[in-house]
Amino acid sequence: MARKIVAGNWKMNLTLQDGVKLIDALNHMKAPEGVELIVFPSHMLVPEINRLSNGIEVGVQNFSEHTEGAYTGETSLDQVKSCGVEVALIGHSERRQIFGESHEVLKMKVNHALAEDVNFVFCCGEPLEIREAGSEYAFVKAQLEESLFHIPDVNMSNTVIAYEPVWAIGTGRTATAQQAEEMHANIRKWVAEVYGEDVAKDVTILYGGSCKPGNANELFAGANVDGGLIGGASLSAESFMEIARSF
Ligand code: PEP
Repeated sequence: MARKIVAGNWKMNLTLQDGVKLIDALNHMKAPEGVELIVFPSHMLVPEINRLSNGIEVGVQNFSEHTEGAYTGETSLDQVKSCGVEVALIGHSERRQIFGESHEVLKMKVNHALAEDVNFVFCCGEPLEIREAGSEYAFVKAQLEESLFHIPDVNMSNTVIAYEPVWAIGTGRTATAQQAEEMHANIRKWVAEVYGEDVAKDVTILYGGSCKPGNANELFAGANVDGGLIGGASLSAESFMEIARSF
């Protein structure tokens, strides 16, 4: 069965002091049963937030596809693991669009994470012009085929995919519950075509894009929506926890 997950992508927000206040506030709130919570702070904050966190998993927003060496400014998975962190985002649309991460680079990151035993949330989603052209399904399917669908069955069962339509990220414009569910149902169908129904049932598919306390309940009601990847609303302990309680 797919896991229920609500994850917060803090992006390049919050000083260490702000991050400490946020994790402290989350630590003091009652988390809903049966929902796994993850936060993804900036790298600089990760060790301290991980040390302070009580029951909330802490992950990284990015890591290098290389093992070690002369890659100034990059962070290796070995370094990530040495801070006690075992989960990472891969392929967030901001990494794809702003930092030019290609299908090939993302495939290398997926392979590297598998080799290093690090779990990941693989992000996919179409830009506005692709949706307006009616090509969103082909676009998202290609993202999965190019960088993810080569992994072995045993790893796919444990995989988390986040569908994040780019036009809904940080824009206040949310996909309707129907648009989200339709894409999620297709993602599960494509997984089933490659890996079979049993694996597809186990894959966790999160929705991301202007998800807030006011719309989470409706979005999470979709049969194929197993939770959310939350940006802006994860910077407030109250709204993040309210979203997590929306199942
Ligand atoms: C995100 O960056 O993953 C995201 C979903 O952002 P927001 O919730 O702010 O749209």
